[in-house]
Formats: sequence, structure tokens, C-alpha cells
Amino acid sequence: MNRATHPVYNRIAIVFDFDETLIPDDSFQVLLADFGIDPKIFKHEKTEPLTEKGWDKYLAKAYRLIQASQQREKGKRLTKQKIAEVGKKLRLLAGVPEMFDRLRDCVAKEDTSIEIEFYLITGGFVEIAQNTSIAHHFKKMWGCAFSYNEAGEIDFIKTQMTHTEKTRYLFYISKGIDSDINKDLIYNYRDLPVNKLRIPLNQVIYVGDGTSDIPCFSVLNEHHGIAIGIHKEDSHAKEWEHREKIAASQRIVNIAPANYSENSELMRSLSLSVERICKQIKLRQLSQGE
Ligand SMILES: [Mg+2]
Repeated sequence: MNRATHPVYNRIAIVFDFDETLIPDDSFQVLLADFGIDPKIFKHEKTEPLTEKGWDKYLAKAYRLIQASQQREKGKRLTKQKIAEVGKKLRLLAGVPEMFDRLRDCVAKEDTSIEIEFYLITGGFVEIAQNTSIAHHFKKMWGCAFSYNEAGEIDFIKTQMTHTEKTRYLFYISKGIDSDINKDLIYNYRDLPVNKLRIPLNQVIYVGDGTSDIPCFSVLNEHHGIAIGIHKEDSHAKEWEHREKIAASQRIVNIAPANYSENSELMRSLSLSVERICKQIKLRQLSQGE
């Protein structure tokens, strides 16, 4: 490496939120409905009274669902297997199954020495996402998770994923940390020599639909990565801007409708983002060996 130039990393990461980013629905609501619970009544009668008392939203949701499950007789409780079945049944947004190969092709056209990796960071229960037909495309998926008893029934919340917590995993990706055991290392990000990173954050693209993604948008802006926002196909980009009250530090490069079909605005945004990073890598490759 020439000390005067940036080190070269031949790797790009695309990180997705899950609910309303890759699927049209909120997976927790689908899980509730599948378990015979009305999501609106659950929110109004079960979780809101707790959050009003200061409970964390994710803990309240998990606690109330575990209670509801335990009140049922054995054999009718919520199990790991039932959660997996919900994942298998989830609807995906248009073009999502083909998107991974389209982006791989896009990178290969630029430079076959550049790798592309996909990651998922969800505020929902990750085991639902892990059972979808697209799960094998992701190098790693993180989210809230249940703990199960010996009968496979949910009995506690094991991990939670708050909005700011999501940013921790961007640093995991950048530093190549696979395991939660090393979690204290994330605080060293700025002190880590730039040639010790696995993927610099300026080669990371983050795609998300809402409030829970704003801290990740901020981190990527700070580190010159690319943040892309998604809005529902039947709403308008202006509404998103208003709804999310985006601050200057949280701005994103584009807001596109939730549709990954070939030639859609979102797919074009993703392809252009990938091409831009590939060109940045190729430019830096020119300085190698000097
Ligand atoms: Mg979402």
C-alpha cells in the first residue's frame, strides 16, 4: 500500500431493514394474526399500557406475547416451529427474490474481483426473516430473538434491536465481527487502523423504510456510505420526508417506492449505488503497487 493513498477493499456490503423494506407487511403483526391475535387490539390493550409506564417497546411486545402464549394450553402455545412457519408464508415485495442476482451481476460487470455481500438488520424477530425463501442470500441477519423452553415454546426475549442498536451492527459489518462475544470492540471503530477494516463504511449501502432506520442513515452519512429510503408504493416521497422529519445529518441519497422489479426506481438506485462504489474501488486500485 502506498502510504499516501487510501487502502483498497474489494468488497461492498448492502444492508437491508426487513419489515416494509423487503416485505410489504410488519412481520410481528403477521405473527400475531397467525397466532389468532388482532394486532390493533394487542397494541391498544396490551403493549401501550406498558410503554406508557416506560417499558421499552420491544420488551413490551415480547412480554405480552409470551403471556398470551403461556395462557394457552400445551400444544397451542407459540413455538419456534410456528414462528418458522410464519417466515415461510411471508409475502415479499415485487422483485426481491431476483434482486440479489441482479446486483451480483451489476458488480461482476464492473469488476469480477469485487465481492458483494448482503446483510439484514431488523427491529422485528429475526427468526421470522431467517425462514423466508431469501434467507440464504444474507451473510448475516440480526434482530430481536426469543428464548425457548425445552418444549420449544417462547419463554423470554433473548435479544432486542432498538433503533440506535441497529447502528452497532453496521460497525460489526465494517470490522468483520461475526459474534456478539466481541461486542465491546465496536467502540473502537475510530481507533481501528483503516487497513484493519473488513469493509469501510463508505462501501456500505443501507436500505430502510422508516424511523427505526434513521440512526443507520446518520452513521452512513457521517462515514460517506450510501443511504436509500423506501416508501410504500401507494404513498408519496413527500409524505415520507414529512413523516420521518429528516434532519440534515440523516439525509438519504434517494427515496424510492417499495418495488425491486427490473427498471424500477429502487432497482436503478441500488444499481447506480453499487456501480459508484465499484468505480471508487477501481480508482483506488490504480494506486496499488505504486
Ligand atoms: Mg422497516
